[in-house]
Amino acid sequence: MALVSTSTCPHCGHPAELSFRSPDRNRRTSAEAFDYHRCSACALIFVAEDIEDLSAYYPAEYHVLPSESEMRRIAGHERWRMDFVLPWVQGGRLVEIGPGWGVFALLARDAGFAVTGIEMDDRCCDHLRDVLGVEAIHTDEPERALAEGPPASVVAMWHVIEHVRRPFELVAVAAERLEPGGVLVVATPNPGALGFRLLGSRWPHVDAPRHQYLIPARALTEAAAAHGLERVALDSDDPGSRGWNTFGWTHALRPGHVGDAGRVPELAGAVVARLVRPLESQAGRGAAYTAVFRKPLS
Ligand SMILES: [Zn+2]
Repeated sequence: MALVSTSTCPHCGHPAELSFRSPDRNRRTSAEAFDYHRCSACALIFVAEDIEDLSAYYPAEYHVLPSESEMRRIAGHERWRMDFVLPWVQGGRLVEIGPGWGVFALLARDAGFAVTGIEMDDRCCDHLRDVLGVEAIHTDEPERALAEGPPASVVAMWHVIEHVRRPFELVAVAAERLEPGGVLVVATPNPGALGFRLLGSRWPHVDAPRHQYLIPARALTEAAAAHGLERVALDSDDPGSRGWNTFGWTHALRPGHVGDAGRVPELAGAVVARLVRPLESQAGRGAAYTAVFRKPLS
């Protein structure tokens, strides 16, 4: 009997097969190895096993809660994120899924949006309410919280969709909840990245098992289009994606030390990123991409 591990693609329903296996190389929360399957049709990559409680793989230090002044300093470097929102929408209700400690929520609030964060970490929820003064909903079922809330002019997910259990349901609910003319902003690791081609399962953005999905931009675009959303922007060389290029090379050089790689790997990672920059800056080759999907006005 052939022992080929197969499953069904949660996006398009075609057969998927084992692509690679990876332990938690970034944070070493467990000794197990996780099977990632790849869809034969749409190239979606996903953890084959449905892990009901993913919280076990998020160590206590996953979220560091900065002071307001530290947040302001960081937010100063992150203003580019609003460039993916403001050309299309300038106000209204902005829902961020998985804001963490809320640097984007802060930028959006300061730009005049009424911000709601839907967040699975309760300490982050307290921080969002107490330090930022924005609404925070504590849940690990974001699609439900989004569906039960009022309509929104913006739904944003910065490096979140790859973590959730049902990403395509989240896209469907976001499309349903958006007001006409509203936008869904999604940034996520890019399985078309140069780094993934070269490093395979050792690419730090595999981040097993926290990254449950590596979603090709094309599959995400199809999913959004199936719910009436039109892609109006796609960039794998925006400032965020460029930062993830360097992160990828740094942590490939020193696995197991996320956030604390040390000066030498950090310098070496920056040098490698500089050397391969002509390749990684090509369309579709950066470590991540940011996409904007718009709901038509009528
Ligand atoms: Zn598929």
